[in-house]
Amino acid sequence: MKLLGLTGGIGTGKSTAGGLLAARGLPVIDTDDIAREIVAPGQPALADIVAAFGGELIDAEGKLRRAALAEIVFTSPEKRQQLEAILHPLIRERWQAQVEAWRESGQGTCVVVIPLLFETAAQSHFDAVLCTACTAATQLARLRARGWPELQIQQRLAAQWPLEKKIAAAQHVLWTEGAVELLRRQLQRVN
Ligand code: ADP
Repeated sequence: MKLLGLTGGIGTGKSTAGGLLAARGLPVIDTDDIAREIVAPGQPALADIVAAFGGELIDAEGKLRRAALAEIVFTSPEKRQQLEAILHPLIRERWQAQVEAWRESGQGTCVVVIPLLFETAAQSHFDAVLCTACTAATQLARLRARGWPELQIQQRLAAQWPLEKKIAAAQHVLWTEGAVELLRRQLQRVN
């Protein structure tokens, strides 16, 4: 089995690339999906978050108020680290279990999408790392399109390695400046 890590700056197209690879039939797991699953009502991470950050982060339906949590952690590096200490071990445990299952079932090339792959020193788990990248202007335009406040965009960017450092550390770069179709064609070379 060949295991690929797919990372890149926020808004540079990791999830889009992961979706395109999955559409090609490759087994893909996106750690952003895992991060959402483990904070669902009844999941242990949600109880830990409430214990650390307070019950007002839960809405009337018992769901995590993600925007409120983002506001807390992206204005305080200590709180972000506290949240990461809750989430990252659980996220890693889940994708590693999936990788083991792929290995046992004799899969060929498989992909794990991890936004903080380099920041969490996960590169040694992969045969190669792919990095999505685009210009800073395009990245900013995509993040603004998400409706995030300007300050939070800057804080989220500051919480990650600079994109050029990720590009330098990756084995392959996927350039996402143009149309999604161009990304799809670049991804045809991944095997
Ligand atoms: P990330 O997972 O890195 O945060 P996403 O894939 O969620 O990024 O978002 C990238 C956004 O940019 C999507 O809305 C996508 O449709 C858009 N986009 C436009 N052109 C491209 C491209 N060439 N490659 C990837 N995404 C693109």
